[in-house]
Amino acid sequence: MTIADNILYFDEQLRNTNCRLVAVSKTHPAAAIKEAYEAGHRLFGENKVQELVEKYAELPHDITWHLIGHLQTNKVKFIAEFVDTIESVDSLKLLVEINKRAEMYGRTLPINCLLQISIADELTKYGMDYEEAVALLQSEEYRSMKYIRVVGVMGIATNTSDEAKLRQEFRYLRGCYENLRDTFFFANPDFCEISMGMTSDWKIAIEEGSTLIRVGSGIFGARDYSK
Ligand SMILES: *Cc1c(COP(=O)(O)O)cnc(C)c1O
Repeated sequence: MTIADNILYFDEQLRNTNCRLVAVSKTHPAAAIKEAYEAGHRLFGENKVQELVEKYAELPHDITWHLIGHLQTNKVKFIAEFVDTIESVDSLKLLVEINKRAEMYGRTLPINCLLQISIADELTKYGMDYEEAVALLQSEEYRSMKYIRVVGVMGIATNTSDEAKLRQEFRYLRGCYENLRDTFFFANPDFCEISMGMTSDWKIAIEEGSTLIRVGSGIFGARDYSK
C-alpha cells in the first residue's frame, strides 16, 4: 500500500462518520507528506515544534497543521503564526502563552486548542486531570482570552491490545468531554472535538465517539527514530 492508497482507504472508512483523520507525519520527510497532499489530504499532525516549523516552511500553505505533542511555553512563539490547532494544551500557563503569542501575530483566526486529559495508566503521559481542566475553564484568565478557542479534548490511551481497557479509557474521555461541554459550552457549537485513537485502536475510538483520529504508522509506515 502506498501513502496515497492509505489516504484513500481512510477517506473511505471515515465517509459517513463524524470523524476526521489527522495524518501524523512525525519523523517522515516532507516528500511523504507531499504524497498524501497530492492524494487530497490537508490535515497533518506533528509532535515536535522544530520539525513542524521546518515542514511548514517546505510545504504548501493550505495544509492544516495540528501540534499533537507536548509543548513547552518557550516554544509557542515558533508556531503561533500558522498552527491551526494545538491538541496538547495541558496547563493554564501554556494557554496564556498561546493566547499572548496569537495576539502578537495579529491572527485573524484564533488558535484552536484541545485540552489534553490524561486517560492512560502511564504516569509519564502528559495531560491534565478532569479537575484541572475544570479549574482552567473556570479561571478569570481563561475567560478573558480572545485569541484562542477551546474546541475539545484530546487523550492518549494506554499502549495495549486490551480492547476492554481501551474502550474504558475512550469512554472516560468522552464523558469528560460531555461534562465540560454541558458545564462550560452550553449551546456553543465550537466545543465539538474528541481527539482519540491511533493506528492500532482508531476503529474502537470511532465507535466510542472520536471526531479526530491521529494515525501515523498506519499511513506513512513504521517510524525510524535512529536517523
Ligand atoms: C505518534 C503519535 C500518534 C500516531 O501514532 P501511530 O501509532 O503511528 O498511529 C498519535 N498521537 C500522538 C500524540 C502521537 O505522538
